[in-house]
Amino acid sequence: MAREDQNLVLKGIAASEGIVAGPAFVMTSARLPIPKRILDPGLIPAEVERLRKALREAVHELEDVKKEFQGAVTREVFSIIDTHSMLIQDESLWSEVERKIQDGQINVEWAIRKTIDEWLKVFASIRDDYLRERSQEVELVAQRVLDKLIGHKDKDLRQIDQPVIIVAHDLRPEQTAQMFFSKVLGFSTDIGSATSHTAIVARSLEIPAVVGLKNITHLVEDGDLIILDGIEGNVIVNPDDQLCRKYFDRRAEWESINKLLQEYSTPPSRTKDGFQVQLSANLEILDEIHFLSKYGAEGVGLYRTEYLYLNRDRLPNEEEHFENYRKLAEVVEPYQATIRTFDLGGDKFISEPKAAAEMNPALGLRAIRFCLRHPDIFKTQIRGILRASAFGKIRMMFPLISDLEEVLEAKKIMREAMDELDREGVKFDPAIPVGIMVEVPSAVLMADKLAEQVDFFSIGTNDLIQYVLAIDRVNEYVSYLYQPLHPAVLWMIKRTVDAGHQAGIQVAMCGEMAGDIYLLPILVGLGLDQLSMPARLIPRVRKVLRGFQAGELKPVAEELLKFSTAEKIKTRLQELAKKEWAEAYRMEPEKNPEPSGGFLCQKSDQS
Ligand code: PEP
Ligand code: MG
Repeated sequence: MAREDQNLVLKGIAASEGIVAGPAFVMTSARLPIPKRILDPGLIPAEVERLRKALREAVHELEDVKKEFQGAVTREVFSIIDTHSMLIQDESLWSEVERKIQDGQINVEWAIRKTIDEWLKVFASIRDDYLRERSQEVELVAQRVLDKLIGHKDKDLRQIDQPVIIVAHDLRPEQTAQMFFSKVLGFSTDIGSATSHTAIVARSLEIPAVVGLKNITHLVEDGDLIILDGIEGNVIVNPDDQLCRKYFDRRAEWESINKLLQEYSTPPSRTKDGFQVQLSANLEILDEIHFLSKYGAEGVGLYRTEYLYLNRDRLPNEEEHFENYRKLAEVVEPYQATIRTFDLGGDKFISEPKAAAEMNPALGLRAIRFCLRHPDIFKTQIRGILRASAFGKIRMMFPLISDLEEVLEAKKIMREAMDELDREGVKFDPAIPVGIMVEVPSAVLMADKLAEQVDFFSIGTNDLIQYVLAIDRVNEYVSYLYQPLHPAVLWMIKRTVDAGHQAGIQVAMCGEMAGDIYLLPILVGLGLDQLSMPARLIPRVRKVLRGFQAGELKPVAEELLKFSTAEKIKTRLQELAKKEWAEAYRMEPEKNPEPSGGFLCQKSDQS
């Protein structure tokens, strides 16, 4: 890169926290050029055999990778490798390649490229973010097979003996794992999102990462100095001294605030005047359980179980559910773990049954609606949850409830499962608490009736905001209308809390709002009993919570509910944060923090 391109800022997606600086190590593009060849008919059988041989080799390679990293890295790495093995053995993909070789009389490499491009087009039209991201997996698997065919071998990142920042189009799961054992400071990729496998693995191994940078592999050359900011999602190429200094200070501040927040990584979580708010964790995957003790989570307020169903060609059986939840039950003691029955449906299933494509998936056959339509699939999960409840404190939670009948129906299926387990002599907790997610306006308006049927509520603000304000939560064109502080949203929260408390049940919140320190005063003022959030946010929320007087927040919430727009509410909250709660929000970094390794901006004078 030319020197005049100093301070080039590339905007990507923050995938894993941390700020590092160092020379770039650019990996060759994943898409090596593939030649097209027309074959003599007599050569076709040999070409098909080349494909089959490459597939066998790729399967063995993945088995070797698993053996190599066994016990050394998180389970998440393995589940992604399993997904890749599954795709390599997916006949629908490879028989299509074979058909192209035979019908088009073309070479196997070209047939693979054509098939993958067709698949990617289909993936690109999928609305669901998580599923759309899976196209990346298909592409990586195809690349692995192509590498076998053309004899290309990827570099083992453990052999890198200098501190560098990896710049790649995308990374295979074993490459991300290799970084854990290498001098690699962090990595950046062209493609990917916050839920792509590289991001998930980076977070579970705590390697700073920025993904989705589109074309960083074309803009950066080997040895270019780069700063990677995994908090904001930026990569700065060839920073000047001033920028190096700025990021050095930012990193020092971030480290020092993290150090300060360690003091808040244990309970209690209460205000100055003793008002207790349970701060619990949202888990996306079981691998995150080690964060519970690290950040002092008071239980799990939301375990999203969807990942158990995705990326596979058959449904999880009862044993798989049970084993997964049992581990959680054992680790979460002395607190409770709230397991949400799966929130899938519409076009989100890869495995059978495949539901029809829907015009409005968000308003379609998802979550509890899908479960009640497929009671056998639902009951398998419920039995797994019930069996795990014999091993620790488990609560069961049903998502997207919009009607009382749904609760009654779901509880009926749960009771049937209990009767079956009783007859089989299998242990479970007969008094397992059952709750619902309140995330549809009708549930808010019916909260008093629903409260008679359940043991707790948990407000899912991500969906509640979507349905109250009629805003597609994944549509960037209307994201400006997605306002947590909209008075209608706040009234919905108030109404739910009041109805729950009237009935004597706990009211929790597990949407994004629950982890936002600037919304905390209003949530405490409205009387929420539990706030559930990504575990790493807990110490920060606990620190701020301890600086409040709950008695003063109730009138504040009442005052804010009188405002007519989100803007006015926000302005008033900001004013109070500055004037009244400055101490609660203060997070002062140390004066002259000790620099730690991993920031190699040589040009700057960091002494
Ligand atoms: C919510 O809707 O707020 C919620 C926590 O559920 P999810 O984000 O999984 O839909
Ligand atoms: Mg939801």
